[in-house]
Amino acid sequence: MATLSTSASMYEAPSGRTPASSRTVFPTKLNAYFLSLIDHPGDPLGRQVLPDPRESEDTGGTIDPLDEVRQSPTSQIIHRYPHRVIFLVSARCAVNCRFCMRKRIAGDRETISQQSIDRALAYIVGNRSISEVILSGGDPLMLDDDELVAILEALRGIDHVSVIRIHTRIPGVWPQKVTKGLARRLASFHPLYINLHFNHSREITTESALACSRLADAGLPLGSQTVLLQGVNDHPDVLADLFTKLLEIRVRPYYLHQIDRVPGTAHFQVPLKEGLQIVTALHGRLSGMAIPHFMIDLPGGGGKVELLPDSIEKSVSGTYQVRNFEGRIYSYPMD
Ligand SMILES: *Cc1c(COP(=O)(O)O)cnc(C)c1O
Ligand code: SF4
Repeated sequence: MATLSTSASMYEAPSGRTPASSRTVFPTKLNAYFLSLIDHPGDPLGRQVLPDPRESEDTGGTIDPLDEVRQSPTSQIIHRYPHRVIFLVSARCAVNCRFCMRKRIAGDRETISQQSIDRALAYIVGNRSISEVILSGGDPLMLDDDELVAILEALRGIDHVSVIRIHTRIPGVWPQKVTKGLARRLASFHPLYINLHFNHSREITTESALACSRLADAGLPLGSQTVLLQGVNDHPDVLADLFTKLLEIRVRPYYLHQIDRVPGTAHFQVPLKEGLQIVTALHGRLSGMAIPHFMIDLPGGGGKVELLPDSIEKSVSGTYQVRNFEGRIYSYPMD
């Protein structure tokens, strides 16, 4: 078995210089740490990062299912909701998740130019209604600590930005990157929230638990997002185990996401009805602290909607009718 390594990239299949947006094959990338957690390719961890022949057979969905590009006033900003924006600060990730909904960006090895970062900052400066900025990507913690801190300093210099969030999978897939020094530096940007990404309890190891406790000890509130994935975590026992263990390492489950329809991900899709049955089963047995909101993200940029066990009584010709945060009705495919 591979030895542990602090290097991000152990195996990175060549992707050439093809821009992510015009790529038909999503590059494979994983590191020695994550590889060491995989027992065999079809196990819940292997399935997340190893390519599957079914990817090339699935041509359904679209590369930008949530219409993020249309809602991007600059290349690095997604502005869908009035008071908060997503700021894409890095295209790189420690491992490339096969089900990623941002395959059009993620897994790219190019660094984002300072000019693009500056344009995004200028947009935030110019929009006084933006009070919350979510650093995402790709993975923001793939940046050098100094680069990340420089962006956080720039954001803290903007009066109307009060809350900053970082969305990252690094503590679960490259925990060695989360040093005490990094945690200490992040602690100077409160209120700074960190949302992690865990899909299976086997991602919670001594190393990832240590990374989380460094962040929690620095006073950073930790949440977690999970994608509901067939063959990985589509069973109440598996999710109950994950969410219980997350609470034990001081990570509060935040969202459970229905997968977005990006080409090459059909084999991960769990029918919505089944997802709701799983969520219903969790409500009976877990502490409210351990139960995340079950979210769908509406196609066409309608935004996220929380589904409750009785949410989908109404269906019309193969689609569900869902009301978004503005009260508008969107059609959502049934499976
Ligand atoms: C998910 C998302 C957010 C953050 O939403 P929360 O519900 O506040 O976690 C913000 N902007 C966009 C475009 C998003 O997709
Ligand atoms: S870490 Fe996040 S952005 Fe990167 S490949 Fe995985 S899901 Fe996509």
